[in-house]
Amino acid sequence: MKAIIVHGGAGKWKSDNVGKVREGLIEAVMSGFDKLNKGESAVEACLAAVMSLEDNPIFNAGTGSILTLDGRCEMDACIMVGSTLEIGAVAAVENIKNPILLAYRVMKETNHVLMIGEGAERLAWALGFERYNPITPERLKQWETARKKLLESPPSDRFKKLKELINAHPELLKGTVGCVAIDDTGEIVAGTSTGGTLLKLFGRVGDTPIPGAGTYSTEFAGASSTGIGEGIMRVLLAKRVTDLIESGKLPMDACKSAVEYLEKRVNLEAGVIAIDHRGNIGYAHNSPHMPIAYMRDDMEVPVLDGLP
Ligand code: ASP
Repeated sequence: MKAIIVHGGAGKWKSDNVGKVREGLIEAVMSGFDKLNKGESAVEACLAAVMSLEDNPIFNAGTGSILTLDGRCEMDACIMVGSTLEIGAVAAVENIKNPILLAYRVMKETNHVLMIGEGAERLAWALGFERYNPITPERLKQWETARKKLLESPPSDRFKKLKELINAHPELLKGTVGCVAIDDTGEIVAGTSTGGTLLKLFGRVGDTPIPGAGTYSTEFAGASSTGIGEGIMRVLLAKRVTDLIESGKLPMDACKSAVEYLEKRVNLEAGVIAIDHRGNIGYAHNSPHMPIAYMRDDMEVPVLDGLP
């Protein structure tokens, strides 16, 4: 059974962006599915799908990632292989075109799991990656407006205000990307990539590169999360989903139950996608939207959902 699902981030999308998001998701899911159809592995499929989303400036990952409070672009990414529990992750990397690819190289070429900032970038240069500026003019404009709003409050209130702003405005938080794929051998791979949350503090790391929080995969299931990382990390959302699937739940029920748990325990917005070892698909979110697309070898065309 070959199957693949991608997400474009929990949050709130404006209806004028829907066309581009739809196109981007279909392109990504089909680029991964084509790999599976050609007999390539779930790793190749997941990388192709996530890189396609990273390269699309409408999403908050790779090119077009959102900016930190001080105007930097710090990205997180993770990839995990279910059968071997191999993981590669990078956090707070700047100047990289495809953070998911660097995460993959961490997994394949080092004996580490998670590398951060300057150290991760040094590895990238040693591996032949080229320096790249992922900041787009649209993101710069969005950052300027949001930052101005925040700076209107006195310095002592800013961090509190930032917390309230992010909790009250899910539209500031959208566009993280993720993928789960299963290939004909039953290998399940999960991958996630993000620019994080708008106006985050320099040095803040979200759930995406944290195994079990943003990304997780076993021989039974894989999951990729999105939403407010500070909530996702506290309940280890992706691991919760794979555990529920291992204990007998279908992916759709597992995702729903895990998001309900997160809402009950930490009352923040999030979403998650999953695939089990039979190729069953699951997704759930408590944010206004979470665009997803999936494709399986028993389907003619991909299914899209979660958009306004
Ligand atoms: N989970 C990501 C983070 O907190 C953001 C998102 O999914 O939109 O970094």
